Amino acid sequence: MEAIYCMGCGVEIQTEDPKGLGYTPKSSLEKENVLCKRCFRLKHYNEIQDVSIQDDDFLRMVSSIRDRKGLVVHIIDIFDVNGTMIESLPRIVGNNPIILVGNKMDLLPKSTNQQKLIHWLKKSAKDAGLKVQDVFLISSAKGFGIDELTEQIEKLRNKQDVFIVGTTNVGKSTFINRLIKQSVGESDVITTSYFPGTTLGFIEIPLDDDSVLIDTPGIVNQEQIAHYVSDQDLKGITPTKEIKPRVYQLNAEQTLFFGGLARIDFIKGDKQSFVCYFANQLPIHRTKLEKADDLYENHVGELLSPPDEETKKLLPQFINTSYRLANEKTDIVFPGLGWVTVNGNCTVVAHSPKGVNVSIRKSLI
Ligand code: GDP
Repeated sequence: MEAIYCMGCGVEIQTEDPKGLGYTPKSSLEKENVLCKRCFRLKHYNEIQDVSIQDDDFLRMVSSIRDRKGLVVHIIDIFDVNGTMIESLPRIVGNNPIILVGNKMDLLPKSTNQQKLIHWLKKSAKDAGLKVQDVFLISSAKGFGIDELTEQIEKLRNKQDVFIVGTTNVGKSTFINRLIKQSVGESDVITTSYFPGTTLGFIEIPLDDDSVLIDTPGIVNQEQIAHYVSDQDLKGITPTKEIKPRVYQLNAEQTLFFGGLARIDFIKGDKQSFVCYFANQLPIHRTKLEKADDLYENHVGELLSPPDEETKKLLPQFINTSYRLANEKTDIVFPGLGWVTVNGNCTVVAHSPKGVNVSIRKSLI
């Protein structure tokens, strides 16, 4: 039998193992556009099915780009730059040129200085050893910046193929769907969803007679908090609208909880504002430092939620990191959750689940 590939995720269709990747019932094979059961359910019921695939498999597939020629478009989530920038990309894609695209711009406050952000992204990429030709800011969901980006891709690709790469959940599928919609006027050709790991196979979309645009599987970054929370909680921490910064005037020895998933203690320093950039629906709770441990112990999952019961089972224990910050506006970043901007000249302790490593950076906004 000739191999058939899923129109949704590009994985090879099989009809034998209902639990396996690419399964579809035999009766569906007669349809013109065959979808695997997983994409079918996603498309029609908005529901994701668990399919396990090893990280190694992802890497092996994506590494095949090394042996081809083309422009690599690396999409990252602007809300989770540290968690979604693939530092090993040059090794994966060989000598192919890379452009960096910050997606989900609609989530940042409108007041964000875009030139400053582009500059900062260029520097971050360089510091991470990632040589990029250019940096763009877009919102795949809202359409912002797409025309300029497609124009530039057309120029830079030099008639060669285009590879779209990124970690899971950065919005690759949404971006490609938009391109398809623009060029062929057909929506929902590939699956998009909330959940990491959704886009599985390579999908090739013709650009012209000689070249294609390739959607690659999302590389899983284990540091993303998305891997440690239930589907329900993922909705609770994922911003869907422009983030409204929440400002807390704190004195030393006060603590902020972000749901029950992260925490920051203001240890030493003059009274100052802590500006919090998290999904608007994520509850933030202020308390005294001396009461914080007890509060967590007794109220995690209730007052301090998420985590729900399922997440509690997945969540690694908290580790804490202490920062003595100089007199400079600094972001304390909880990858995948958000960040807190402080004016500096203070000591803080950040608590996060082990593996979801907190970092600091010069203030982004
Ligand atoms: P992929 O795994 O990289 O293919 O990511 P998807 O395209 O499936 O998108 C992951 C999630 O991010 C979905 O819930 C999308 O709706 C959402 N998303 C994608 N692009 C944007 C964007 O520009 N802005 C916002 N706010 N959400 C986006």
